[in-house]
Amino acid sequence: MLIETNTPEETFALGKKIGAEAKPGSVYTLIGDLGVGKTVFTQGIAQGLGIEEAVSSPTFTIVQVYEEGRMPFYHFDVYRIGDVEEMEEIGYEEYFYGDGFTIIEWANLIEEILPDHYTRITIEKDLEKGFDYRRILIEEVTH
Ligand code: ADP
Ligand code: MG
Repeated sequence: MLIETNTPEETFALGKKIGAEAKPGSVYTLIGDLGVGKTVFTQGIAQGLGIEEAVSSPTFTIVQVYEEGRMPFYHFDVYRIGDVEEMEEIGYEEYFYGDGFTIIEWANLIEEILPDHYTRITIEKDLEKGFDYRRILIEEVTH
């Protein structure tokens, strides 16, 4: 599915809708360059899950856990990860295969440990269509 947005609010609203409809055990990956709107989208998801707490990028930890919503929310940012062993050390399986909602920024860096089924969100700019234009692709991936 392809969705185009022209404001941060629209990207937030799309995330919120996904968060509101999400089922426990969902894994989403989030691909896109710096400043494309991954955090805006993730904040929308958090609100859709009923999380009031402010959500930002997990800068110093690989995963940030939010428990206050209608299911746990696991926000991974694996940008600074050295190798997949670091994921083993934090026990990623408890998150990926648990009853929460998992979102993984920069998931392409840990491709080999992604579950057999997940939803891939790709956000891209297209400057010809304006600074605030974003193309958001939502794909079901099955290996
Ligand atoms: P990332 O987490 O991908 O590095 P952020 O979500 O932190 O990016 O920042 C995205 C920036 O782009 C914000 O400043 C936001 O206001 C701006 N922006 C402009 N248009 C959009 C849009 N259509 N969707 C999302 N963000 C947008
Ligand atoms: Mg970010």
